[in-house]
Amino acid sequence: MSLNRLFRLISIALLMLFLALAVSLVWIEWNIYQSSTNTVPALKRFRLGLVAMEQVSAERGPANAFMGARDDERAVLYQRLQAARAASDAALADLRAALEKDSAQRNSGILEKVRIVQQTLGPARAAVDHVGQQAQGQRSHLYIVSAVNGMMDVIPMLVRITGELVGTVDLADPDLRDGLAGVRATASLREYAGQVGSRFTAPLITHNTLNPDEVIEIGRLYGRIELLRSLLGAQLAAYSSQPQFAQGLANLDKQYFDNGFQFIDYLLQVGLKSGDYGITPAELAARYVPQMKAILDLRDIILDDLMARAERRNLQARNFLVLVIGLTIVACLFFQLLMYMIRKRVVSPLVTATDLVVGLADGKLGQEIPAARYDDEIGGMMRALRVLKERILERNSLAREREALISQLQTSSNTDFLTGLLNRRAFFSYGEQQMGVAQRYRRNLSVVLFDIDHFKRINDSHGHLSGDAVLRGVAQIAAQLLRKVDVLARYGGEEFIVLLQETDIGKAEAVAQKLRVALEQKEFDVDGGQRIKISASFGVAALSEGHSLEQLIKLADTALYVAKERGRNRVEVSV
Ligand code: GH3
Ligand code: MG
Ligand code: MG
Repeated sequence: MSLNRLFRLISIALLMLFLALAVSLVWIEWNIYQSSTNTVPALKRFRLGLVAMEQVSAERGPANAFMGARDDERAVLYQRLQAARAASDAALADLRAALEKDSAQRNSGILEKVRIVQQTLGPARAAVDHVGQQAQGQRSHLYIVSAVNGMMDVIPMLVRITGELVGTVDLADPDLRDGLAGVRATASLREYAGQVGSRFTAPLITHNTLNPDEVIEIGRLYGRIELLRSLLGAQLAAYSSQPQFAQGLANLDKQYFDNGFQFIDYLLQVGLKSGDYGITPAELAARYVPQMKAILDLRDIILDDLMARAERRNLQARNFLVLVIGLTIVACLFFQLLMYMIRKRVVSPLVTATDLVVGLADGKLGQEIPAARYDDEIGGMMRALRVLKERILERNSLAREREALISQLQTSSNTDFLTGLLNRRAFFSYGEQQMGVAQRYRRNLSVVLFDIDHFKRINDSHGHLSGDAVLRGVAQIAAQLLRKVDVLARYGGEEFIVLLQETDIGKAEAVAQKLRVALEQKEFDVDGGQRIKISASFGVAALSEGHSLEQLIKLADTALYVAKERGRNRVEVSV
């Protein structure tokens, strides 16, 4: 796999992995944000549930007062009761409306319970009305207790409703959990505080001492109230640094436990001894109910704090989500940039460099080496490649020069400088070859040796340069007349030799004659604008079996000597 392709695949895989991580991180933060967004409305619904429960509890004060009403105050107390009922109906209606507005599935179960509360309130209120409308003294203990219980029986359903509403609040924050438990403790405290007061309704109306059931019930409520008091203290310890909580708890101790609860304690003492309470349920409510406000105040302090925390958390979650998305985008862009940079500055130049090196190794020296773009390692490599290419080019050109020189040298070492013919050394080299071939295949081979007549005179009368010109002219004429395969060489000063292949003595003689005639007829230009004529003498010899080249030449030389002797400008054949 090519480096480029491998890099591309790795980049894509890394990007995928990175995106998967980024998406899951954003998804987690989105969910945290979503659930924290739901927390505030859920807390609001929880508060509406608590208020509804508180209103239904609070309705018992005027109900008890009405049941203990003297004839003259009945109308006023009934009016108050109706107002309290309207208030609890309104609180229940508010809760219903809020639940209906929120479309969550689980609300349908809670709504059903609210509906049951509303339905149950009807007969419970009718029982209260029934007792209240009876004449003073006619009201039986049993009916009163039953009516009081009827109003109390509605509460457990409301406790369940608030319990379920707590379940809809996001409990991710442990502080919210502690706070919610604290709120529920205050709600229960308010309920039990109310119940303990209500337990005196029947004895107050009938001026009786407390019967054993009532004593047991009041004792049980005492226990619960004490338990809730310590529970609240423990739960709110987490908030001890916040002054409003400490203040709320202090108010609760002072107002409810010091004033309200002590008053109940006093009534209990009377109820156990004489039954001579000296107050009506209306007066009890007027004195006792305001002391319970400290409980509700504490509840509101915790609730307000919860609400503020939830809003803060929601804001934090939103900010964090934005931050995570922002960072993800930045990281993604950075990653892309990084991959682009690596590709551009490392992988691509590396691939290019590899191609170039391979090309150089294959001898492709025409390829352009790109200039180094950056002053980094890759740039250094490109510069080095340029140097490498230049060195190779230099070396190649040197090699070519050397070869040319060698061949030039070879030529010059084989060539006669003046005439351009082969020299004596080269003649022997070629001659030996052809001798070998001719002897092995028994071919004819002849030698013609010729020497210019009285050449010394030319030099003497026309100058050495003129002699040189004549030598060049003779060489030219001889080269023109001979075949390509014949080997013509300058044998010595003004002496030339020809090796004729596939040529017997007769034909060789004819060639010598032809040459002699041509030289005799030629007029040579010499210094001083003169034209002179020359002649040459020829010795011809043919190869016989067992001859060496030297012997053959020797025979031709002897024939040449004879030609000179016999008067020059003639051809003699060796016999
Ligand atoms: P013959 O007819 O007996 O051959 O008489 P010749 O004068 O040709 O013979 P000789 O051997 O006495 O003289 C040869 C002369 O050729 C001597 C030398 O100066 C001259 N010669 C040899 N080589 C060259 C050369 O390269 N250039 C010139 N200009 N002269 C040369
Ligand atoms: Mg000579
Ligand atoms: Mg001569």
